[in-house]
Amino acid sequence: MAENREYRGRLAPSPTGHLHLGHARTFWLAQARARAAGGTLVMRVEDLDGPRCRPEFVEAIHEDLRWFGFQWQEGPDVGGPHAPYVQSARLPLYQSAFERLRAAGRVFPCTCSRRDILSAMSAPHAGDEEPVYPGNCRGKSSDEPTRSGEGSRVAWRFRVPDGQAVAFEDGGCGSRAFVAGRDFGDFVVWRGDGWPSYQLACVVDDAAMGITEVVRGEDLLLSTARQLLLYGALGWAAPSFYHCQLVTDEHGIRLAKRHEALSLRRLRESGRSPEEIRRTSGGGDWE
Ligand code: GLU
Repeated sequence: MAENREYRGRLAPSPTGHLHLGHARTFWLAQARARAAGGTLVMRVEDLDGPRCRPEFVEAIHEDLRWFGFQWQEGPDVGGPHAPYVQSARLPLYQSAFERLRAAGRVFPCTCSRRDILSAMSAPHAGDEEPVYPGNCRGKSSDEPTRSGEGSRVAWRFRVPDGQAVAFEDGGCGSRAFVAGRDFGDFVVWRGDGWPSYQLACVVDDAAMGITEVVRGEDLLLSTARQLLLYGALGWAAPSFYHCQLVTDEHGIRLAKRHEALSLRRLRESGRSPEEIRRTSGGGDWE
């Protein structure tokens, strides 16, 4: 990260359900770090996960975060110099980044499993990682037509440099290194339905919005390695990263939508105040 740049952090929720305590704690850390640096916090709605994203969840996210005590300086509801702050309204930006990768021969069309392609819609959180891509379509050229014989559009994968170590210094987890082709394989950047994958959209937006530090859960460390390769391929400076520990339930399982009882909405309905929640929940580690 360039030393003299103003700190810009972000909250990047996906409107696929109600936010829970795990989101709140990661976001709280993001907000605390932005505040401590006298910087700006950006709120971005990541709604590229097809039909799982619903407008009522977008509204609930705004309400629940405000109630909990979050304040952002740029976002869908307050505007800002990098609007729109909703991914579904930013397609041209993703298209132009994808075209650059394609022109540089860094991607190849892939007609493999539909399941892999679907998994590219959202961030691969704990347990969602795809196996290393076996390389079936790897030899295809980036000049291939964008539609398969049956007329459906193909997906595109980024060809990772096999054996290359991707190392970075993480603010929360210290030095980390992953090996391309071993820890993760060629990954989807463009989906067959005409939208970018989480990995590409996230990089394009963090770069375009001038984010200087990405704060998120440690289950996305491997995604950071992928994203660093995309920053390199696109010739963009990468932000710093700060991955934090995940909030788990009493069985040590990462919180997810099924933990509806720990959603901010339910906690609020049950009469608990944000201050009390921060004092007593999620390991009590609210910075
Ligand atoms: N929308 C993604 C998620 O909620 C964001 C991941 C990230 O912070 O990059 O999982």
